[in-house]
Amino acid sequence: MNEKKIVEERIEILFSEAAKAVAKRPELAKRYVHLACRLAMRHNISLSREQRSHFCRSCRNYLKFGANATVRIARKGGTHRLIICRTCGKEKRLMIGK
Ligand SMILES: [Zn+2]
Repeated sequence: MNEKKIVEERIEILFSEAAKAVAKRPELAKRYVHLACRLAMRHNISLSREQRSHFCRSCRNYLKFGANATVRIARKGGTHRLIICRTCGKEKRLMIGK
């Protein structure tokens, strides 16, 4: 098994653990995200779209929609989603589709 594959799996696990932890232990979720990002960076792996949409780039908190993040469709055409981190108030934009 190649190393990159193993690291990708570990990142996935970290994100799913963060998703589970965020409601009860937000600090822990944050640490998982931090670890996942560090792993990705060190091994030159890019996070999936799904993963990137689930953390705040500003405070590195795991974003759970409806729990600590608000999602809105930004424009009438519905081409963007606007995700607002309730921890630090930072907004991020995500393209829909593609
Ligand atoms: Zn934030």
